[in-house]
Amino acid sequence: MLNDMDFITTCDVPGPSKEAVRAIVLYKADVKDSDVVVDVGCGTGGFTCEFAPISKKIYSIDTNPEAIKLTEKNLKKFKIDGDITFINDDGANALKSIDNIDVAIIGGSGRKLNEILELVDTKLKSKGRIVITAILVDTKVEAINKLKELGYNPQIMEINVSKGRVLDRGIMMMGENPIAIISAKKR
Ligand code: SAH
Repeated sequence: MLNDMDFITTCDVPGPSKEAVRAIVLYKADVKDSDVVVDVGCGTGGFTCEFAPISKKIYSIDTNPEAIKLTEKNLKKFKIDGDITFINDDGANALKSIDNIDVAIIGGSGRKLNEILELVDTKLKSKGRIVITAILVDTKVEAINKLKELGYNPQIMEINVSKGRVLDRGIMMMGENPIAIISAKKR
């Protein structure tokens, strides 16, 4: 697992998703080296950097050109190579030209989560996994409802992590934002 502090960050791109979130997303995605992965809303590249070395191919998609540049920079920084395609477009559009997906990670969707999930469903292989990270309560509800409507049996967990800062006089625990991880597997 990469260290949160080692990512290059900029103020106009959110992320990276924190270490504990990346660990659970990896676990839920159950990625194999023969898998095709899409990272919708790649941001700083937190998920792309973890998935690229252990999957067959990854599509890193973001509407923000700065996010694409930053993801590329982080891949270089961590010396990660692999079959990576960058798409600077809306996930709801980019997904139209991608088929046979094994794992879809959705870390950003704007207001298009329903549309993105409908498309992902048509492109996801049998036994494929969807993993969504959500900060807004509304996104959590929307994700669960849409996945149910599409015939999935979604799971949701919210993770609240505190990490310790080791100071001279003791260890101070500092809380990170709670993040929900919604996951589902196609039949
Ligand atoms: N998981 C990332 C952080 C994601 S931040 C990391 O670990 O670095 C969310 C990202 O989603 C932002 O960069 C935003 O530009 C992007 N985004 C939002 N709506 C989108 C959409 N409809 N299609 C593609 N990208 C989108």
